[in-house]
Amino acid sequence: MPAFICTACGTQNAPGLNPPAHCTICEEERQYVPPRGQSWTTLAALRQSHVNGFRAYEPHILGIGTQPTFAIGQRALLVRTPGGNVLWDCIALLDEATVALIKGLGGIQAIAISHPHFYTTMVEWAHAFDAPVHLHAADKDWIMRPDAAIRLWEGETRELWDGVTLVRCGGHFEGGTVLHWAGGAGGRGAVCGGDILTVTTDRKWLSFMRSYPNFIPLSQRAVEHIGKALGPFSFDAIYGHYFDRVIAQDGKALLARSVERYVAAIEGKRGY
Ligand SMILES: [Zn+2]
Ligand SMILES: [Zn+2]
Repeated sequence: MPAFICTACGTQNAPGLNPPAHCTICEEERQYVPPRGQSWTTLAALRQSHVNGFRAYEPHILGIGTQPTFAIGQRALLVRTPGGNVLWDCIALLDEATVALIKGLGGIQAIAISHPHFYTTMVEWAHAFDAPVHLHAADKDWIMRPDAAIRLWEGETRELWDGVTLVRCGGHFEGGTVLHWAGGAGGRGAVCGGDILTVTTDRKWLSFMRSYPNFIPLSQRAVEHIGKALGPFSFDAIYGHYFDRVIAQDGKALLARSVERYVAAIEGKRGY
């Protein structure tokens, strides 16, 4: 039985004879069903129509994204730390070339995903690389394809191994998670933010939303919490969820400025 994939959000559901009637992820207020209506594809079909492209950032962080753009269009990151490789966030297309290339770089020791919009085909990746998938337990109701490879974690931080820590920021989703790698950015620290910390189009700021397509903002309290959650960590680089959304330096100060700007805007201060 095929495991159908929603073409609007990239979420793969549990195998079934027929495509599901609804996409639970798209019908919720943070996503959307396109005007053309709900449609589904399979991994086999996606492998015929799309390919994956790669971009090297710093020497040990590699971006992986699908061409042409599929569903939400995020790119994943292979974070190659001394303790092992982490796949940060996930994309729907997993093909033979991608498996061969990543295995050539040492495979994947752990998969971690910021929030349910990027769960996509996480179970396929877990099986291909024999790797656990770490998800925050607060978002467990959004898991559309349950599997033994999924490890739910609770609380505010979870260290995968030395220097590699998942940090729960909340915001966009209750379990919204970012990854901190102390050894990233040449030892100054890197944060992989998904769209929990969204690098803005000008790549000079971050912003934070409950829904990006439907323009639902977050409260002052929620955004200040994001800043506090990252308070104990040092970092210079911030990787957003698209290929070109990267802050190369000064990330920690930029987060503080961005929280302050957001709160000023939502509170109507300083000319907003
Ligand atoms: Zn969907
Ligand atoms: Zn999202």
